[in-house]
Amino acid sequence: MKPSRRKRDPARLDLQYLWHPFTQMQDWSKEIPIVIASGRGAVLTDTEGREYLDANASIWTNLHGHRHPAIDRALRRQLDRIAHSSALGLANEPASFLAERLVTLARTGTGPELARVFFSDDGSTAMEVALKMHYEHRRRTRPDVPPRFLSLENSYHGDTVGAMSLGQSALFHRSFDGIRFRVDRVMAPYCYRCPHNRARPERRDAREYRKCRWECVGAIEKRIARAGKRPYSALVVEPVVQGAAGMIVHPEGWLHRAATLVRSHGMQIIADEVMTGFGRTGTLFACHHEGVQPDFLAVAKGLTGGYLPMAATLTTEEVFESFLGPYEDFLTFFHGHSFTGNQLGAAAALASLELLVKRSRILRRERMEGWLAGALDSLWDLPRIGDIRQAGLVAGVELVQDWRTRRPYPLAEQAGIRVCRAMAARGVLTRPIGNVIVLMPIHTMTRAQVERMVEVLGEAIRETL
Ligand code: PMP
Repeated sequence: MKPSRRKRDPARLDLQYLWHPFTQMQDWSKEIPIVIASGRGAVLTDTEGREYLDANASIWTNLHGHRHPAIDRALRRQLDRIAHSSALGLANEPASFLAERLVTLARTGTGPELARVFFSDDGSTAMEVALKMHYEHRRRTRPDVPPRFLSLENSYHGDTVGAMSLGQSALFHRSFDGIRFRVDRVMAPYCYRCPHNRARPERRDAREYRKCRWECVGAIEKRIARAGKRPYSALVVEPVVQGAAGMIVHPEGWLHRAATLVRSHGMQIIADEVMTGFGRTGTLFACHHEGVQPDFLAVAKGLTGGYLPMAATLTTEEVFESFLGPYEDFLTFFHGHSFTGNQLGAAAALASLELLVKRSRILRRERMEGWLAGALDSLWDLPRIGDIRQAGLVAGVELVQDWRTRRPYPLAEQAGIRVCRAMAARGVLTRPIGNVIVLMPIHTMTRAQVERMVEVLGEAIRETL
């Protein structure tokens, strides 16, 4: 099929002018792209009138569905007043209300309370802000030892240079090694591919897990011990699920253990909840599963219900105070973006949060988790499936050549990409991470839609592999 000759044909214009993120454009140009024209609830419609289930919540952003009446209404109301005014030198209503709301919702009562909110634009900038705040805070409060970051194997924190430096993905970051600053890497819990081989999901034998001796926590302890005179000052972590690593769900108890350990060594915790925040994993923030309160909490994606690019970095009063002083001492946090505290984004976020915390919605999400788990259960019989991981409404299905040996498909075979293409042909849209197929249902999906999404994944695997 060739792009239409219509002068304003969006597919043709895309192929002629656009450069897509994380996309091999040589392959992209071989096909006519799906052009999304509209959406409602969990369904996206293209310019040809074809409908698709949005099975990865528009790359992990959307919470309550497209064109949700309450968020649409909040945005229209805000548009009638103003779309944007600068946060440099000015306050605005929705940003103030949102900051208060976020601080209230992030409260756990178990650690250093998060008391201040710094707004930015996306997940990467929220992480840049966290790392710069930590760096400067540490330099001021511990001038004797330079700040030093520790992050997890395969972690991903965004694509700006600072966020890339915190990340440890060989595939995404390797070519930029020359401009990344050094951040040490430590073993992450990945039970399915644990070198100590404790977990055997293919047998689904719970007793196997119990033999685990938390070698992955021990690895952090060893790392810290080896740091010697240049101790680590912060652990950077995607709590509960490492998203771009392949939706790797950490075993229950890891976060609490790791947090207790690093805190006992005077380290701060930077929690990247860009993907896991806002109810994705069951609790409002993933840290809440294990009663961990980080010193920095970065959120984005779902903050506005997936409507607009807006992010926030929450931190403690202690960190905030280290930036206070007479003007001429220049202790100011020298960081900011043109759209910081944008009114439209904040209005959407307030409306989204109001929906998110409703009791009826929380109960519905719990029921959905059960629907998703039940549907995923039916996939275990497929020989090309090695592992199925789920945390709340986040699921990763790892494809393997041989489930007995867990042999992965070589990336060049594009197993994940091929499966997702077959899913799209059946009306279900998601994107793979290498050999892992991500399912992240929008919170308002019906039971039939959840089951259809998983059924189509099974059909696509059977057809493709
Ligand atoms: N952190 C995590 C955990 C993420 O999953 C992502 C995006 N996938 C980011 C940071 C970067 O966010 P953004 O794409 O909005 O810059």
